[in-house]
Amino acid sequence: MEEKLSLRSHTSGSVLATKIVAMAVVPLLILSVIASFFIAGAIVRNYSVDVVNELRSECITINTFISRKLKSSDYKNSEIKPDLFDSISQQTNMDITLFFGSERSVTTVKNPDGTRAVGTYADEEIASHVLVGGEDYFSEQANVNGNMYFAYYMPLFDADGNIVGMTFAGKSRASVSHSVMLSIMGTLAVSWLLTAVVAVICGTAARKMVRALKMTAEFMGRIASGDTECELDERVISRRDEIGGMGRAAVKLQRSLRDLISNDPLTGLFNRRACNIRLAEMLDGAKADDSCLTVVIGDIDFFKKFNDRYGHACGDLVLRDISDILRRGTQGAGIAARWGGEEFLLAFSLSDDAAMAAMENIMQEIRNFRSEYDGEEISVTMTFGVQHYAGENNTDVIINAADEKLYYGKNHGRNMIVEHIPDTVPSERTGE
Ligand code: GH3
Ligand code: MG
Ligand code: MG
Repeated sequence: MEEKLSLRSHTSGSVLATKIVAMAVVPLLILSVIASFFIAGAIVRNYSVDVVNELRSECITINTFISRKLKSSDYKNSEIKPDLFDSISQQTNMDITLFFGSERSVTTVKNPDGTRAVGTYADEEIASHVLVGGEDYFSEQANVNGNMYFAYYMPLFDADGNIVGMTFAGKSRASVSHSVMLSIMGTLAVSWLLTAVVAVICGTAARKMVRALKMTAEFMGRIASGDTECELDERVISRRDEIGGMGRAAVKLQRSLRDLISNDPLTGLFNRRACNIRLAEMLDGAKADDSCLTVVIGDIDFFKKFNDRYGHACGDLVLRDISDILRRGTQGAGIAARWGGEEFLLAFSLSDDAAMAAMENIMQEIRNFRSEYDGEEISVTMTFGVQHYAGENNTDVIINAADEKLYYGKNHGRNMIVEHIPDTVPSERTGE
């Protein structure tokens, strides 16, 4: 049954952790998918603009260089070496062509066999737009010698200002797409990496949170099953959040419950139930370590009469004062409990002689005890029966033996400590 319970709590813990992580990470994932689309779109748009600007500026540079040198008449026959453009082409990853009219005269564009694609002609529509219209022409899908290009065409003027041809600068779509893809992948990789980091951080925090909750639940479960001495993990108590607050409240609850079930409300001493538990532990300890244990039962003398004379309320005050003396007298050496009514049980984990010395001190304090009630000085005496552990099997046997000695004391003058009944051993401590 207990196993089933713990299994269930383990499962629900994992479910909670998963839910917390999902709550944190799913919106982030959705956001990052949406952002990825926008980022990819923006990168493509920027790239297009960049490519147009790059191609146009290359055309301007080439035109400036060529126009200053040439006259219309000698343009075609001039020896403009294609090598001039090869180095530019390699550096910028562009292809460059000079058209005389619409004829490709000097070019870095190659045929499949590796020869330069000179002597071919520009598309008619482009040629008329640039050569006749005198305007630049840009296309994202230009077919240049069988390959698709981002292509920019610009009219080429001679020194007299006549259009003698056109300059072409182009980048193959494949190479541009490759660069765009690299850029998008890099950006997306960073964004997905960030998402993964957030997921790991959230997951760790969630797991810690759930572990603290589970520890608190287990702690409460142990208290519920009667274990008021169990401890809550320090990691839960020291948390600064609501879970830590809940853990601290659970510990307070445990203390209150422990006080409630272990302590006598009037005197604050252990009650009979708690006394039985602790005495059994002390006996186990004595058996295990072969050490000493002394059990004492004490009873206030003529307390009925005391109550009759001074009243029950006064009796209560005396019970408290006597309890304080017993508590002080056993502190650090054993326990003091209210066994019932005006009867008390004391137990010492001391040597027999040390326990008797402690008892003598207690007895002396009780004899010296004076209080005032309604202008009258009041005092009480007590009788004690003492039993030293001598291999008894259980606490009842020891308590009964101590009780017998108390009874003997009650019948032989009270106000005494009875360690041995004279019939069995001829020594009796009276403290007098
Ligand atoms: P003795 O033990 O010396 O033989 O005499 P006694 O008068 O003490 O006898 P007994 O133990 O029979 O009486 C116990 C009395 O203790 C009876 C009851 O009125 C009183 N008593 C028990 N519990 C309380 C308590 O909580 N408060 C007060 N005021 N009196 C209590
Ligand atoms: Mg009594
Ligand atoms: Mg009594």
